[in-house]
Amino acid sequence: MVVAQRFGAEHRILVTGGAGFVPSHLVDALIARGCTVVAVDNFVTGSKENVAHLADHPRFTLVEADVSEGLPEHHPAIAERFDAIMHLASPASPTDFASLPIEILRVGSLATLHLLDRAVADRARFLLASTSEAYGDPQVHPQVETYWGNVNPIGVRSVYDEAKRFAEASTMAYHRYHGLDVGIVRIFNTYGPRMRPDDGRAIPTFITQALRGEPLTVHGTGSQTRSICYVSDLVRGILLLLDSTETGPINCGTEHEVSMRELAETIAALTGSRSQVSYITRTADDPEMRRPDLTLARERLGYEPEVAPADGLRRTIEHFSQRLAG
Ligand code: NAD
Repeated sequence: MVVAQRFGAEHRILVTGGAGFVPSHLVDALIARGCTVVAVDNFVTGSKENVAHLADHPRFTLVEADVSEGLPEHHPAIAERFDAIMHLASPASPTDFASLPIEILRVGSLATLHLLDRAVADRARFLLASTSEAYGDPQVHPQVETYWGNVNPIGVRSVYDEAKRFAEASTMAYHRYHGLDVGIVRIFNTYGPRMRPDDGRAIPTFITQALRGEPLTVHGTGSQTRSICYVSDLVRGILLLLDSTETGPINCGTEHEVSMRELAETIAALTGSRSQVSYITRTADDPEMRRPDLTLARERLGYEPEVAPADGLRRTIEHFSQRLAG
């Protein structure tokens, strides 16, 4: 299956959360295609630094706003029609689940509804960044899109999992009721430059600890697994979904599944660090295993991840070394 490029030079794209880790890489890719991009962000977890290189770009506008309050329609860049609305705004790291629970619920629910309404008004394609967390602590492995998941609706992770599930339900309701052109991508663990060193996710945590010569803190026994995807592979998958007419949900990530213990050891080796691995208490409802079934992404989008983990990790380590040095 080859998906032809649908969005390019003559198109205006709204990216919510555009100053965040994944969204800022997406913004770069859209700009490289010739699109005009408006990023909206309230910088709750993102940073202007991530898009600072685009500050004077004629096809890029950064608007500061909380999308849970609705879009600032009076802003000239927002007032003009969009061809696609890509909703990526949401705090997404486990530490955010504890420190920003209400913000996460609001951006998954209220913001999604506001943006869907705007997509209907603009007759835009609406793309939702959902998550592998929609599967909760899965009892089906690898996770296939038809699996409905195993989520604790009142647990510490539920603010994120259930907000994204609500966002998926809303997206499908607008598709069925309004005939809106939508796409839902379920993103699996993604890493790369521009992650926050202190965001609590395994890869930036291990890299920062290794570079500082501190112990690498693995939760529990470290036997729990994740499949790690370098950000450029994810962005390519998201763009394939954008260009397609697929509704999804479609998984995006890699099948490279590693245990947290292996990941810590690999990062210690790649950084040349003498840090030891230390084991700390595991957080509640932490999924035991996670790996996407990518059959649908391959069949419908022609998606194939390309970056080997050692390469992606090396590039990320280099980025963090420069940041810590500067
Ligand atoms: P991130 O925190 O770096 O990016 C999210 C951005 O959204 C930040 O810039 C933040 O300031 C902004 N934001 C949050 N709430 C907002 C609001 N109310 N109004 C305006 N802006 C707001 O996180 P990320 O890892 O880049 O994640 C981006 C998206 O991808 C999220 O929707 C996340 O759920 C999804 N996702 C990411 C991963 C991953 O492994 N990185 C996995 C699954 C899903």
